[in-house]
Amino acid sequence: MSGATSTRDLHAMTSAQLAQRLAAGPVIALVPVGSTEPHGPHLGLGTDVAISRAACVRAVELLAAAGRDAVIAPAVPYGVTECAAGFAGAVSVPPAVLTAFVAAVCDGLRAQGFAQVALVNNHLEPAHDAAIRAAAVDRAGVVVACPLTRRWARTLSAEFKSGACHAGRYETSIVLAAEPALVDEAARAPLPPVPISLSEQLGKGVTTFAAMGMHDAYAGDPAAATAAEGQAQIERLAEMIVGELSA
Ligand SMILES: [Zn+2]
Repeated sequence: MSGATSTRDLHAMTSAQLAQRLAAGPVIALVPVGSTEPHGPHLGLGTDVAISRAACVRAVELLAAAGRDAVIAPAVPYGVTECAAGFAGAVSVPPAVLTAFVAAVCDGLRAQGFAQVALVNNHLEPAHDAAIRAAAVDRAGVVVACPLTRRWARTLSAEFKSGACHAGRYETSIVLAAEPALVDEAARAPLPPVPISLSEQLGKGVTTFAAMGMHDAYAGDPAAATAAEGQAQIERLAEMIVGELSA
């Protein structure tokens, strides 16, 4: 394999290829961040990583068009997932451990000579977001791209803005566009809408899917998802990464 894949993904590059690349000019490292957690009866446990990765793939193209060189670093696939406690597949790590690990990864990438590091996070549990942001605090050249930021949230779909944004129409659309093998279509088709706003519930101090009434670990309307909508959302998420890197 050669060409786009080997030059875009750090895990496919050789040491010599990376050394050459870093010597040629400033290179940005994009680190997809997600979680391993339940996403309804229809999406894979790795959904958030798949979303972050899809955004990174498109961001590399947008950055290249602007004359900036970027590669996708290996992902961080575990996070703080206490909201999903009680469901099979919710593998949670303590926030302080996540922060320390991600900070060390950022330091390692910067020590290698990457000009900037973008932590691209699409697991939106507040404690997880805070743990990732803590890793970027006081680290020169490290930025966080996460759609919880108001500036970026308002560019996304109506369902996302309603807060019903776990494994519903928004996330399912993105996975349909990016990695359809993670979508169980037979399970998705009959799912009724679950109009529960996670942001509202969290604001009231209700912190688990079970207590919120999300008995199948999803909110929103996954049956209404389309790959076309997902493609449009990926474009917004990619623009968010470029925007954070330029800020
Ligand atoms: Zn998710």
